[in-house]
Amino acid sequence: MKRIVRAPAKLNLGLDTPFTHPDGTIEWRMVMTSIGLSDHVQVETNHSEMIQIISDSGFLPNDKRNLAYQAAHLFLQETGITSGLTIKIKKRIPVAAGLGGGSSDAAAVLRALNEMFMTHLSLEEMARLGLQIDSDVPYCVYGRTALVSGRGEIVTPLKPLPKMWFVLAKPNVSVSTPRILRRLRYSRINHPEIDQLLAGIAQQNYHQIVANLGNTLEPITAASHPQIRIIKDRLLKYGADGSQMSGSGPTVFGVCRSESRAKRIYNSISGFCHEVYVTQPTCHDN
Ligand code: ATP
Repeated sequence: MKRIVRAPAKLNLGLDTPFTHPDGTIEWRMVMTSIGLSDHVQVETNHSEMIQIISDSGFLPNDKRNLAYQAAHLFLQETGITSGLTIKIKKRIPVAAGLGGGSSDAAAVLRALNEMFMTHLSLEEMARLGLQIDSDVPYCVYGRTALVSGRGEIVTPLKPLPKMWFVLAKPNVSVSTPRILRRLRYSRINHPEIDQLLAGIAQQNYHQIVANLGNTLEPITAASHPQIRIIKDRLLKYGADGSQMSGSGPTVFGVCRSESRAKRIYNSISGFCHEVYVTQPTCHDN
């Protein structure tokens, strides 16, 4: 048996951290959207009793540290199925970039296995399993555009975004999410207007969405990596209507309405930045 599934990257249009729970986990309030930039994940049964990970990226662990491995292991444990699995990952999403590539691969494995073995786990059940791997996996099980709250487990699907294009620019630096989260100082946070952002999506109001982008982690990451502010300013200068860092960074995205504008921004920013992509909102089953 074999399945090939697409694992889209995510962007945080809004990211707020209202508080930290007594156990040290973060309470999130995030507006996320899936984008066309995707990994391709092939899951196939094999005759061993092992989970084997093969990827075309030199940056990924191929053992139980890989989030796709963890998803397969949890699925087999939860369902009681015994099977060897070979998981091949064509990595297109930059690693440790704030684009949720590892979480999306994990969610793709859960969806693929659920289909292959006809186990009929609901989205809620897969999201609950995924939460044991990373706080972004429940969202990635749903994909599309959603409000994510709690520790990542409360996923409320939203209307699709109105037509818009994203230009992503990833500076050549690595960011550790746990290190950024340890630097959160609640007294210094400027909380983004998530409710206004949600209203913009509900009303399909492009300008209201763009005006209410916000990410509490951006100033923390930008304090160590000044390239982030420089790229953000350039994206705006080259014609983006809004610009922001995704997740804990370092990828910055610019938003605009038309493909031709997005391509112009892409051409202008390419000279300054290591990796640049033009993409649109998507969902994982198209
Ligand atoms: P987050 O913000 O959720 O930490 P990210 O988008 O910044 O995620 P990822 O690309 O998901 O970053 O990688 C985060 C870490 O997870 C890296 O250290 C990477 O080695 C590890 N990892 C494990 N499995 C994978 C995978 N399948 N794809 C990408 N990274 C993976």
